[in-house]
Amino acid sequence: MQDFLNPNYDWQPLLESVPSLPLTDVLRLDKLGPVLSGNKPLKLAGFKTVLQPSHRALLSFGGVHSNHLHALAYQAKLWQLAAVLVVRGYATQPLSATLKDCCDWDAQLLFVDKKTYAKRYDLAFQTELAERYQALVVPEGGAGQLGEQGCVSLANLARHYDEVWLAVGSGATALGLAQGLSRWQARTQLVAVNAVADQGERQRAFALRMPQSVSWRLIESAQGFGKINSELRALIAHFDAQALPLEPVYTAKLMQAFLAHRPMLPLRRTLLIHTGGLQGRRGFEMAAAPKLG
Ligand SMILES: *Cc1c(COP(=O)(O)O)cnc(C)c1O
Repeated sequence: MQDFLNPNYDWQPLLESVPSLPLTDVLRLDKLGPVLSGNKPLKLAGFKTVLQPSHRALLSFGGVHSNHLHALAYQAKLWQLAAVLVVRGYATQPLSATLKDCCDWDAQLLFVDKKTYAKRYDLAFQTELAERYQALVVPEGGAGQLGEQGCVSLANLARHYDEVWLAVGSGATALGLAQGLSRWQARTQLVAVNAVADQGERQRAFALRMPQSVSWRLIESAQGFGKINSELRALIAHFDAQALPLEPVYTAKLMQAFLAHRPMLPLRRTLLIHTGGLQGRRGFEMAAAPKLG
């Protein structure tokens, strides 16, 4: 398996330039592998470090288009474990393309209502699930310190740039990257684009958890989580035509914020991290959605 936990991991093979964006490179994590791609396998690599022989399954939480559940179901199969997916939704609705894939990979789906889903951070609920399924419980989105560890090695590439930009959900990828930048004593500024309308929660969490030595800022995305409007659609079509596919939940918002707030002067070399998630495009009925599996 790829050793994302190696702080010297070589990300160069996934690096591309974008002709229409001078001084800007893109780290194409969406090209990491044919199925398992994006930032989620990095985070899962962090959880692998605490797997015990007694664990028979990976268990986690997410919505019906979740990139995290999609990656976890596939990763579990590769690690010869069962996958138990606690899904916010109803079994009576037709399966999303995401969940169909997960079923093809033998994942077990547990549909829960909003009230039960709200207990996903509750330790007693997690322990009960862990015992029932003999599972390693992975937090929603692969968040937490283990997930962050898996993203530290991104700094080995980012440290060579003046700025590194990425989209933020739980914040684990950004926090891991920041820890790496701090270890390298890099001067790179981290610019995080918050895809989730969270009443300032991420800003407060970053203020507490970002390493002192790292300069960072958080830009709030103009659109709500999972919302897509004609501007975002046009932006996606624009970059599709340049062979840089984006999806509406995270990476298109990153690009939208980058185009609006990118550094103009002085000229700064910038790395954009494409965190993947293209499988989720199938949930938005867009032309040219990638085929998977
Ligand atoms: C999950 C996800 C993110 C958010 O990553 P966090 O580590 O939770 O901040 C960003 N982009 C894509 C495509 C994702 O699937």
